[in-house]
Amino acid sequence: MTWGWRKILSIRSFIRPFIWFLIRDGTEANAWNDNWCAYSPLRDFITPRRIHGAGFSMRSSVSDLIDTHNGWKWPIAWFDLYPVLINLMPPNIVHNVPDKLVWKNRQGNVSEFSASEAWESIRVRGEEVDWVNLVWYGQSIPRHSFHLWLVIKNKLKTQDRMGVWDAGSATNLNLMCCPLCNQGKDSRDHLFFRCSYALQVWNRVKEMAYMDSVDENWDSIIAWLSQHAINNSAKSIVSKLVVAASSYFIWQERNNRLFSRTQRNATVIANIVLHTVRLKLMTFKAGKGVTPGAYPSLLLSRREERVCISRSGGRPPESKGELLRLSPRDTIWYLNRLKESESSKLPVGQYPGVAFPY
Ligand SMILES: [Zn+2]
Repeated sequence: MTWGWRKILSIRSFIRPFIWFLIRDGTEANAWNDNWCAYSPLRDFITPRRIHGAGFSMRSSVSDLIDTHNGWKWPIAWFDLYPVLINLMPPNIVHNVPDKLVWKNRQGNVSEFSASEAWESIRVRGEEVDWVNLVWYGQSIPRHSFHLWLVIKNKLKTQDRMGVWDAGSATNLNLMCCPLCNQGKDSRDHLFFRCSYALQVWNRVKEMAYMDSVDENWDSIIAWLSQHAINNSAKSIVSKLVVAASSYFIWQERNNRLFSRTQRNATVIANIVLHTVRLKLMTFKAGKGVTPGAYPSLLLSRREERVCISRSGGRPPESKGELLRLSPRDTIWYLNRLKESESSKLPVGQYPGVAFPY
C-alpha cells in the first residue's frame, strides 16, 4: 500500500463523525457502524453479542431493523438495556430510493461534500484574535495582508530580534543600525512609524487613511483600526489598505537598503503607497458589499481631477464614478498623468507590488 493511501486511511476515524447517511430505503447504511441517527454509531454501546443474540448480524442494514409496520424489530428488552433507544423513532423508509451519503459539519448542518467544507470542519481552530478583520478581508492585497500579519505578530527579522542570535565571531550584530535613519537598531515599533524616515512616509499617507489625529506608534494605530475599521465600509477598507501598504513598502525599502544598496526617498515611497491603494480601489466591483461610488472622493485630489479633465479635451467627467470605470488602457494613462503631475518621475514598471492589467 502506498504512503498516500496509508495517510488517507489513517484519518478515517477522524472524519467518520462528519459522514452521515440520509435514510431513504435503508439498505445501504449499516445499522451499527454508520452514522444515521442521533445515537450513531449504535456499535458504541450495543455489543456484537447482543446484536447476534437478537438475530441480527454485523452486516445488518437500517432497513433490517424495521418491520413492515414501521416499528423496531429489536427485542423489547433492549429498551431496558439501552434506554436511549426509547427516544429513537424509526426513520421513514422510502422504497426504491437509495440512501444518501452527506457531510455533516461541526454545527450539525448537512451539506454536499466539498473540500472546503471538509477543511472547515476538521481544521484546528484557535481563539479568534481581535485583529483578524484588519488583516484578512476580501478586498485586501494578499501580499500586504501576509506582511501585516507578520508585523502584528512581531515576526519580522528586525535587528532587535536578530541581536540575540549567535552570528559567529565575524559578525558583530551590535553594530547594526536602522538603514532608513541610521539611528539605533530597527524594530517593529521603530519602523512603524517612529523612525524619522518612516514617519515622513506615514505623515504623507495618513490623511488618506483618516488617521491624521492618531499617534504614529504601532499600538495606537492598531488600536484605532480595531475600533474604527473592523467593518467593510469604504473608509474602513481604505484605512486598512493604507496601513498595510505603508508597512509593506517601508519594510521593502529597508531591505533594499540593506541588501541591494538602492535608495528611494520618503516621498517616492509615500506616492507608491497612495498609487497602490488607489489602483486597488479602482478594481473593486459593485455587488460585492462595496459600492464604487463610495470611493471617488478618496481616489482623486482636486489637482488630480483637473488632470483627468484635461485628458478629455476640457470636458469634465460626467461623474467621479465614471473615473472608476476606466478601461485598463485608460487606467495606465491616468496613472502616467498622475506621475507626470507629481514631483517623482517613476516609470510604471518601477512600482513594486502593483500588478498591471496587461
Ligand atoms: Zn530608522
